[in-house]
Amino acid sequence: MPGFEVFGEEEKREVMQVLESGVLFRYGFEEQRGEQWKVRQFEEAFARYTGAAHAQAVNSGTAALKVALAALGVGAGDEVITQGYTFVATWEAILDCGAIPVFTEIDASLNMDPADLEKKITPQTRVIIPVHMMGAAAKIEEILAIANRHGIPVIEDTAQSMGARLNGRHLGTFGAIGTFSLDSVKTITTGEGGMCITNDSALMQRMDNYHDHGHDHLPNPGGRGGEKRPFIGFNFRMMELQGAIGLAQLAKLDGIVAAQRANKEALREAAKAIPGVGFREMQDPSGDSATFFTFMLPDKARADRAAAILKAAGVAPTRWSENTWHYYPNWEHLLQGHTAAANDWPFSVGGKRRYLYDPKALPQTVAILERALTYQVPVRMSAERSQALHDGLTQVARTL
Ligand SMILES: *Cc1c(COP(=O)(O)O)cnc(C)c1O
Repeated sequence: MPGFEVFGEEEKREVMQVLESGVLFRYGFEEQRGEQWKVRQFEEAFARYTGAAHAQAVNSGTAALKVALAALGVGAGDEVITQGYTFVATWEAILDCGAIPVFTEIDASLNMDPADLEKKITPQTRVIIPVHMMGAAAKIEEILAIANRHGIPVIEDTAQSMGARLNGRHLGTFGAIGTFSLDSVKTITTGEGGMCITNDSALMQRMDNYHDHGHDHLPNPGGRGGEKRPFIGFNFRMMELQGAIGLAQLAKLDGIVAAQRANKEALREAAKAIPGVGFREMQDPSGDSATFFTFMLPDKARADRAAAILKAAGVAPTRWSENTWHYYPNWEHLLQGHTAAANDWPFSVGGKRRYLYDPKALPQTVAILERALTYQVPVRMSAERSQALHDGLTQVARTL
Protein backbone atom coordinates (compact mmCIF):
# COMPACT_ATOMS: atom_id res chain seq x y z
CA MET A 1 0.00 0.00 0.00
CA PRO A 2 2.36 2.77 1.00
CA GLY A 3 4.67 4.82 -1.15
CA PHE A 4 7.21 4.78 1.68
CA GLU A 5 8.17 1.29 0.53
CA VAL A 6 9.68 2.74 -2.62
CA PHE A 7 11.58 5.77 -1.32
CA GLY A 8 14.87 6.06 -3.18
CA GLU A 9 17.34 8.30 -4.93
CA GLU A 10 14.58 10.16 -6.78
CA GLU A 11 13.07 11.53 -3.54
CA LYS A 12 16.53 12.39 -2.17
CA ARG A 13 17.48 14.29 -5.32
CA GLU A 14 14.25 16.30 -5.26
CA VAL A 15 14.63 17.17 -1.57
CA MET A 16 18.27 18.20 -2.01
CA GLN A 17 17.28 20.68 -4.71
CA VAL A 18 14.98 22.37 -2.21
CA LEU A 19 17.59 22.41 0.56
CA GLU A 20 20.23 23.76 -1.82
CA SER A 21 17.98 26.64 -2.88
CA GLY A 22 17.14 27.35 0.76
CA VAL A 23 13.53 28.16 -0.18
CA LEU A 24 11.08 26.06 1.82
CA PHE A 25 8.03 28.28 1.27
CA ARG A 26 5.76 27.78 -1.74
CA TYR A 27 5.15 31.52 -2.31
CA GLY A 28 7.53 34.42 -2.83
CA PHE A 29 11.37 34.40 -2.63
CA GLU A 30 11.41 34.82 -6.43
CA GLU A 31 15.06 35.84 -6.78
CA GLN A 32 16.41 33.13 -4.49
CA ARG A 33 14.40 30.26 -5.98
CA GLY A 34 14.98 30.88 -9.68
CA GLU A 35 12.64 28.59 -11.59
CA GLN A 36 12.09 26.18 -8.69
CA TRP A 37 8.44 25.95 -7.61
CA LYS A 38 8.09 22.39 -6.26
CA VAL A 39 4.56 22.61 -4.83
CA ARG A 40 3.28 24.35 -7.94
CA GLN A 41 4.94 21.77 -10.18
CA PHE A 42 3.50 18.96 -8.07
CA GLU A 43 0.02 20.47 -8.43
CA GLU A 44 0.44 20.71 -12.21
CA ALA A 45 1.71 17.14 -12.46
CA PHE A 46 -1.11 15.86 -10.23
CA ALA A 47 -3.77 17.63 -12.30
CA ARG A 48 -2.26 16.17 -15.47
CA TYR A 49 -2.11 12.68 -13.96
CA THR A 50 -5.74 12.66 -12.84
CA GLY A 51 -7.07 14.57 -15.84
CA ALA A 52 -8.49 17.37 -13.68
CA ALA A 53 -8.25 20.99 -14.78
CA HIS A 54 -6.89 22.23 -11.44
CA ALA A 55 -5.14 20.91 -8.33
CA GLN A 56 -4.65 22.61 -4.98
CA ALA A 57 -2.00 21.17 -2.65
CA VAL A 58 -2.62 21.36 1.11
CA ASN A 59 -0.91 19.96 4.20
CA SER A 60 -3.12 16.90 4.86
CA GLY A 61 -6.02 14.88 3.49
CA THR A 62 -8.09 16.17 6.41
CA ALA A 63 -7.24 19.74 5.38
CA ALA A 64 -8.17 18.88 1.78
CA LEU A 65 -11.68 17.94 2.95
CA LYS A 66 -11.93 21.11 5.05
CA VAL A 67 -10.78 23.30 2.16
CA ALA A 68 -13.22 21.59 -0.23
CA LEU A 69 -16.14 22.05 2.19
CA ALA A 70 -15.20 25.70 2.76
CA ALA A 71 -14.98 26.28 -1.00
CA LEU A 72 -18.51 24.93 -1.35
CA GLY A 73 -19.69 27.32 1.36
CA VAL A 74 -20.58 24.79 4.07
CA GLY A 75 -21.19 26.34 7.48
CA ALA A 76 -23.09 26.16 10.75
CA GLY A 77 -26.50 24.54 10.56
CA ASP A 78 -25.72 22.60 7.38
CA GLU A 79 -25.79 18.83 7.13
CA VAL A 80 -23.18 16.89 5.16
CA ILE A 81 -23.77 13.24 4.33
CA THR A 82 -20.98 10.68 4.36
CA GLN A 83 -20.77 6.98 5.18
CA GLY A 84 -20.36 5.04 8.47
CA TYR A 85 -17.28 3.24 7.17
CA THR A 86 -14.55 5.81 6.53
CA PHE A 87 -11.58 7.31 8.33
CA VAL A 88 -12.57 9.74 11.13
CA ALA A 89 -11.09 12.63 9.11
CA THR A 90 -14.09 12.72 6.77
CA TRP A 91 -16.52 13.72 9.50
CA GLU A 92 -13.96 15.68 11.55
CA ALA A 93 -13.68 18.07 8.59
CA ILE A 94 -17.49 18.39 8.44
CA LEU A 95 -17.69 19.19 12.16
CA ASP A 96 -14.82 21.66 11.87
CA CYS A 97 -17.02 23.72 9.52
CA GLY A 98 -19.69 23.77 12.24
CA ALA A 99 -21.80 21.43 10.10
CA ILE A 100 -23.37 18.16 11.21
CA PRO A 101 -22.27 14.81 9.74
CA VAL A 102 -25.05 12.41 8.71
CA PHE A 103 -24.06 8.80 8.06
CA THR A 104 -25.28 6.35 5.43
CA GLU A 105 -24.92 2.60 5.31
CA ILE A 106 -22.37 0.94 3.05
CA ASP A 107 -23.39 -1.84 0.65
CA ALA A 108 -21.55 -4.79 -0.90
CA SER A 109 -19.25 -2.32 -2.68
CA LEU A 110 -17.98 -1.47 0.86
CA ASN A 111 -18.76 2.12 -0.10
CA MET A 112 -21.78 4.42 0.23
CA ASP A 113 -25.15 2.72 -0.33
CA PRO A 114 -27.01 4.97 -2.83
CA ALA A 115 -30.41 3.68 -1.65
CA ASP A 116 -29.67 4.75 1.92
CA LEU A 117 -28.24 8.07 0.70
CA GLU A 118 -31.58 8.87 -0.87
CA LYS A 119 -33.28 8.40 2.53
CA LYS A 120 -30.81 10.59 4.43
CA ILE A 121 -31.16 13.72 2.27
CA THR A 122 -33.01 16.59 4.01
CA PRO A 123 -33.55 20.28 3.14
CA GLN A 124 -30.41 20.98 5.24
CA THR A 125 -28.12 18.70 3.19
CA ARG A 126 -25.42 20.92 1.63
CA VAL A 127 -22.81 18.42 0.41
CA ILE A 128 -22.51 14.65 -0.05
CA ILE A 129 -19.13 12.97 0.52
CA PRO A 130 -18.87 9.41 -0.78
CA VAL A 131 -15.54 7.83 0.15
CA HIS A 132 -13.74 5.53 -2.30
CA MET A 133 -12.53 3.13 0.37
CA MET A 134 -9.60 0.77 -0.06
CA GLY A 135 -8.67 1.55 -3.65
CA ALA A 136 -12.00 0.98 -5.40
CA ALA A 137 -14.77 3.18 -6.73
CA ALA A 138 -17.97 3.99 -4.89
CA LYS A 139 -21.15 3.84 -6.99
CA ILE A 140 -20.27 7.37 -7.95
CA GLU A 141 -22.45 7.62 -11.05
CA GLU A 142 -25.59 6.57 -9.12
CA ILE A 143 -24.64 8.87 -6.25
CA LEU A 144 -24.12 11.80 -8.63
CA ALA A 145 -27.48 11.16 -10.28
CA ILE A 146 -29.19 11.37 -6.87
CA ALA A 147 -27.16 14.42 -5.83
CA ASN A 148 -27.87 16.22 -9.12
CA ARG A 149 -31.58 15.57 -8.78
CA HIS A 150 -31.46 17.38 -5.43
CA GLY A 151 -28.98 20.05 -6.59
CA ILE A 152 -26.39 19.00 -3.99
CA PRO A 153 -22.64 19.07 -4.82
CA VAL A 154 -20.48 15.99 -4.26
CA ILE A 155 -16.96 15.84 -2.80
CA GLU A 156 -15.21 12.54 -3.47
CA ASP A 157 -12.95 11.56 -0.57
CA THR A 158 -10.33 9.76 -2.66
CA ALA A 159 -7.71 9.58 0.13
CA GLN A 160 -7.47 5.79 -0.15
CA SER A 161 -7.78 5.53 -3.93
CA MET A 162 -5.05 7.51 -5.63
CA GLY A 163 -4.28 5.82 -8.95
CA ALA A 164 -7.72 4.17 -9.08
CA ARG A 165 -10.13 4.63 -11.95
CA LEU A 166 -13.67 3.93 -13.03
CA ASN A 167 -13.97 3.06 -16.73
CA GLY A 168 -10.68 4.77 -17.40
CA ARG A 169 -11.51 7.99 -15.58
CA HIS A 170 -9.54 8.82 -12.42
CA LEU A 171 -11.55 8.76 -9.18
CA GLY A 172 -11.94 12.24 -7.74
CA THR A 173 -12.81 13.77 -11.13
CA PHE A 174 -16.53 12.86 -11.06
CA GLY A 175 -17.82 15.21 -8.35
CA ALA A 176 -17.37 18.96 -7.85
CA ILE A 177 -14.10 18.36 -5.95
CA GLY A 178 -11.95 15.28 -5.29
CA THR A 179 -9.71 15.18 -2.21
CA PHE A 180 -6.59 13.08 -1.60
CA SER A 181 -4.22 12.30 1.25
CA LEU A 182 -0.44 11.95 1.10
CA ASP A 183 0.00 10.81 4.69
CA SER A 184 2.47 8.18 5.82
CA VAL A 185 0.40 5.11 4.86
CA LYS A 186 -1.21 6.27 1.62
CA THR A 187 -0.42 4.98 -1.88
CA ILE A 188 2.02 7.81 -2.44
CA THR A 189 3.23 9.89 0.48
CA THR A 190 4.88 13.19 1.33
CA GLY A 191 4.93 12.37 5.07
CA GLU A 192 1.95 14.66 5.55
CA GLY A 193 0.04 16.28 2.72
CA GLY A 194 -3.15 16.44 0.71
CA MET A 195 -4.55 17.53 -2.63
CA CYS A 196 -7.88 18.86 -3.95
CA ILE A 197 -8.78 18.59 -7.63
CA THR A 198 -11.59 20.26 -9.57
CA ASN A 199 -12.63 21.26 -13.07
CA ASP A 200 -14.42 24.35 -11.74
CA SER A 201 -12.22 27.45 -11.84
CA ALA A 202 -14.40 29.39 -9.38
CA LEU A 203 -14.10 26.56 -6.82
CA MET A 204 -10.37 26.39 -7.52
CA GLN A 205 -10.02 30.07 -6.74
CA ARG A 206 -11.91 29.71 -3.45
CA MET A 207 -9.72 26.75 -2.43
CA ASP A 208 -6.56 28.64 -3.37
CA ASN A 209 -7.67 31.65 -1.29
CA TYR A 210 -9.05 29.74 1.69
CA HIS A 211 -6.01 27.50 2.21
CA ASP A 212 -3.74 30.57 2.62
CA HIS A 213 -5.50 33.04 4.95
CA GLY A 214 -7.80 34.21 2.16
CA HIS A 215 -4.95 35.64 0.02
CA ASP A 216 -5.96 36.20 -3.61
CA HIS A 217 -2.37 35.54 -4.86
CA LEU A 218 -2.68 38.19 -7.58
CA PRO A 219 0.47 40.06 -8.62
CA ASN A 220 0.67 43.52 -7.04
CA PRO A 221 3.42 46.01 -6.19
CA GLY A 222 3.25 45.24 -2.45
CA GLY A 223 3.94 41.50 -2.81
CA ARG A 224 2.30 39.16 -0.27
CA GLY A 225 1.50 42.09 2.03
CA GLY A 226 -0.39 43.83 -0.76
CA GLU A 227 -2.61 40.89 -1.69
CA LYS A 228 -6.36 41.28 -1.25
CA ARG A 229 -8.40 38.84 0.88
CA PRO A 230 -11.94 38.27 -0.42
CA PHE A 231 -12.84 36.25 2.68
CA ILE A 232 -11.26 34.87 5.84
CA GLY A 233 -9.21 31.74 5.37
CA PHE A 234 -6.78 29.61 7.32
CA ASN A 235 -3.30 28.13 6.89
CA PHE A 236 -3.31 24.74 5.19
CA ARG A 237 -0.24 25.35 3.00
CA MET A 238 2.05 22.62 1.70
CA MET A 239 5.80 23.31 1.91
CA GLU A 240 8.39 22.91 -0.83
CA LEU A 241 9.98 19.80 0.70
CA GLN A 242 6.62 18.01 0.49
CA GLY A 243 6.07 19.19 -3.08
CA ALA A 244 9.50 17.85 -4.03
CA ILE A 245 8.83 14.41 -2.50
CA GLY A 246 5.40 14.40 -4.12
CA LEU A 247 6.91 14.90 -7.58
CA ALA A 248 9.21 11.89 -7.12
CA GLN A 249 6.43 9.74 -5.64
CA LEU A 250 3.85 10.61 -8.30
CA ALA A 251 6.25 9.38 -10.99
CA LYS A 252 6.17 5.97 -9.23
CA LEU A 253 2.39 5.72 -8.79
CA ASP A 254 1.61 3.58 -11.84
CA GLY A 255 4.39 1.16 -10.90
CA ILE A 256 3.07 0.95 -7.32
CA VAL A 257 -0.45 0.16 -8.52
CA ALA A 258 0.80 -2.49 -10.97
CA ALA A 259 2.83 -4.23 -8.23
CA GLN A 260 -0.11 -4.14 -5.81
CA ARG A 261 -2.43 -5.61 -8.41
CA ALA A 262 -0.14 -8.58 -8.94
CA ASN A 263 0.24 -9.14 -5.18
CA LYS A 264 -3.50 -8.85 -4.64
CA GLU A 265 -4.27 -11.37 -7.37
CA ALA A 266 -2.11 -13.98 -5.61
CA LEU A 267 -4.06 -13.46 -2.36
CA ARG A 268 -7.37 -13.73 -4.15
CA GLU A 269 -6.35 -16.98 -5.81
CA ALA A 270 -5.48 -18.48 -2.41
CA ALA A 271 -8.72 -17.25 -0.78
CA LYS A 272 -10.95 -18.56 -3.59
CA ALA A 273 -10.73 -22.08 -2.13
CA ILE A 274 -12.46 -21.05 1.12
CA PRO A 275 -16.00 -22.50 1.18
CA GLY A 276 -18.68 -19.79 1.00
CA VAL A 277 -16.15 -17.01 0.44
CA GLY A 278 -17.35 -13.78 -1.16
CA PHE A 279 -15.53 -10.79 -2.52
CA ARG A 280 -16.18 -7.10 -2.58
CA GLU A 281 -18.52 -5.95 -5.36
CA MET A 282 -16.52 -3.80 -7.78
CA GLN A 283 -17.77 -1.24 -10.32
CA ASP A 284 -14.66 -1.73 -12.43
CA PRO A 285 -12.14 -4.38 -11.31
CA SER A 286 -9.62 -3.11 -13.86
CA GLY A 287 -9.56 0.30 -12.15
CA ASP A 288 -8.86 -1.05 -8.65
CA SER A 289 -5.64 0.41 -7.19
CA ALA A 290 -5.42 -2.82 -5.19
CA THR A 291 -4.20 -1.29 -1.94
CA PHE A 292 -6.31 -3.77 0.05
CA PHE A 293 -7.63 -7.27 -0.35
CA THR A 294 -10.95 -8.02 1.37
CA PHE A 295 -12.95 -11.22 1.51
CA MET A 296 -16.21 -12.01 3.25
CA LEU A 297 -17.48 -15.16 4.93
CA PRO A 298 -21.16 -16.11 5.15
CA ASP A 299 -21.51 -15.15 8.84
CA LYS A 300 -19.66 -13.56 11.76
CA ALA A 301 -18.96 -16.88 13.50
CA ARG A 302 -17.08 -18.19 10.46
CA ALA A 303 -15.26 -14.88 10.00
CA ASP A 304 -14.17 -15.06 13.65
CA ARG A 305 -12.91 -18.63 13.21
CA ALA A 306 -11.03 -17.73 10.03
CA ALA A 307 -9.45 -14.71 11.74
CA ALA A 308 -8.30 -16.90 14.65
CA ILE A 309 -6.73 -19.45 12.28
CA LEU A 310 -4.96 -16.71 10.32
CA LYS A 311 -3.72 -15.06 13.51
CA ALA A 312 -2.29 -18.35 14.77
CA ALA A 313 -0.60 -18.75 11.39
CA GLY A 314 1.15 -15.40 11.92
CA VAL A 315 -0.90 -13.51 9.32
CA ALA A 316 -3.62 -11.78 11.35
CA PRO A 317 -6.08 -9.93 9.07
CA THR A 318 -7.62 -6.52 9.76
CA ARG A 319 -11.18 -6.67 11.10
CA TRP A 320 -12.83 -3.30 10.42
CA SER A 321 -15.46 -4.07 13.05
CA GLU A 322 -12.70 -4.06 15.67
CA ASN A 323 -10.99 -0.99 14.28
CA THR A 324 -11.45 2.31 16.12
CA TRP A 325 -10.63 4.63 13.20
CA HIS A 326 -12.95 3.55 10.42
CA TYR A 327 -16.08 2.02 11.95
CA TYR A 328 -19.07 4.04 13.15
CA PRO A 329 -20.02 1.94 16.23
CA ASN A 330 -16.44 2.36 17.56
CA TRP A 331 -16.34 6.17 17.29
CA GLU A 332 -17.02 6.69 21.00
CA HIS A 333 -16.07 10.39 20.98
CA LEU A 334 -18.57 11.05 18.19
CA LEU A 335 -21.29 8.90 19.78
CA GLN A 336 -20.81 10.78 23.06
CA GLY A 337 -20.77 14.13 21.26
CA HIS A 338 -17.45 15.31 22.71
CA THR A 339 -15.77 18.17 20.86
CA ALA A 340 -12.83 20.31 21.98
CA ALA A 341 -15.26 23.14 22.73
CA ALA A 342 -16.10 23.40 26.45
CA ASN A 343 -19.77 23.66 25.46
CA ASP A 344 -19.55 20.70 23.02
CA TRP A 345 -20.66 22.85 20.07
CA PRO A 346 -22.06 21.96 17.54
CA PHE A 347 -23.62 18.93 19.26
CA SER A 348 -24.90 21.04 22.15
CA VAL A 349 -26.28 24.54 21.92
CA GLY A 350 -27.16 26.57 25.03
CA GLY A 351 -26.39 23.57 27.26
CA LYS A 352 -28.87 21.31 25.38
CA ARG A 353 -27.85 18.30 23.32
CA ARG A 354 -29.22 18.74 19.78
CA TYR A 355 -27.73 15.70 18.10
CA LEU A 356 -27.42 12.15 19.35
CA TYR A 357 -25.78 9.38 17.38
CA ASP A 358 -27.29 5.95 18.02
CA PRO A 359 -24.53 3.28 17.98
CA LYS A 360 -27.05 0.89 16.40
CA ALA A 361 -28.04 3.26 13.58
CA LEU A 362 -26.16 1.41 10.80
CA PRO A 363 -27.06 -2.32 11.05
CA GLN A 364 -26.31 -3.07 7.39
CA THR A 365 -22.78 -1.65 7.74
CA VAL A 366 -22.24 -3.76 10.86
CA ALA A 367 -23.59 -6.91 9.19
CA ILE A 368 -21.21 -6.48 6.25
CA LEU A 369 -18.04 -5.50 8.11
CA GLU A 370 -18.42 -8.15 10.83
CA ARG A 371 -18.06 -10.78 8.09
CA ALA A 372 -15.14 -9.09 6.33
CA LEU A 373 -11.42 -9.82 6.62
CA THR A 374 -8.85 -7.52 5.05
CA TYR A 375 -5.15 -7.46 4.22
CA GLN A 376 -3.18 -4.42 3.23
CA VAL A 377 -1.49 -5.21 -0.05
CA PRO A 378 2.17 -4.17 0.00
CA VAL A 379 4.09 -2.90 -3.00
CA ARG A 380 6.91 -5.28 -2.22
CA MET A 381 5.87 -8.63 -0.82
CA SER A 382 8.65 -10.86 0.50
CA ALA A 383 8.59 -14.52 -0.53
CA GLU A 384 8.22 -15.47 3.18
CA ARG A 385 5.19 -13.25 3.72
CA SER A 386 3.62 -14.41 0.48
CA GLN A 387 4.09 -18.06 1.49
CA ALA A 388 2.76 -17.44 5.02
CA LEU A 389 -0.38 -15.78 3.62
CA HIS A 390 -0.89 -18.56 1.13
CA ASP A 391 -0.47 -21.22 3.84
CA GLY A 392 -2.82 -19.39 6.25
CA LEU A 393 -5.57 -18.99 3.64
CA THR A 394 -5.18 -22.61 2.53
CA GLN A 395 -5.53 -23.74 6.14
CA VAL A 396 -8.74 -21.72 6.46
CA ALA A 397 -10.04 -23.34 3.26
CA ARG A 398 -9.34 -26.81 4.68
CA THR A 399 -10.67 -26.35 8.22
CA LEU A 400 -13.58 -23.92 7.96
C1 LIG B 1 -6.16 9.12 5.35
C2 LIG B 1 -7.56 9.54 5.12
C3 LIG B 1 -7.98 10.88 5.27
C4 LIG B 1 -7.14 11.93 5.92
O1 LIG B 1 -5.90 12.15 5.43
P1 LIG B 1 -4.72 12.75 6.33
O2 LIG B 1 -3.71 13.12 5.30
O3 LIG B 1 -4.23 11.66 7.25
O4 LIG B 1 -5.24 13.92 7.05
C5 LIG B 1 -9.27 11.22 4.90
N1 LIG B 1 -10.14 10.29 4.46
C6 LIG B 1 -9.79 8.99 4.33
C7 LIG B 1 -10.79 8.02 3.82
C8 LIG B 1 -8.50 8.57 4.68
O5 LIG B 1 -8.18 7.27 4.58
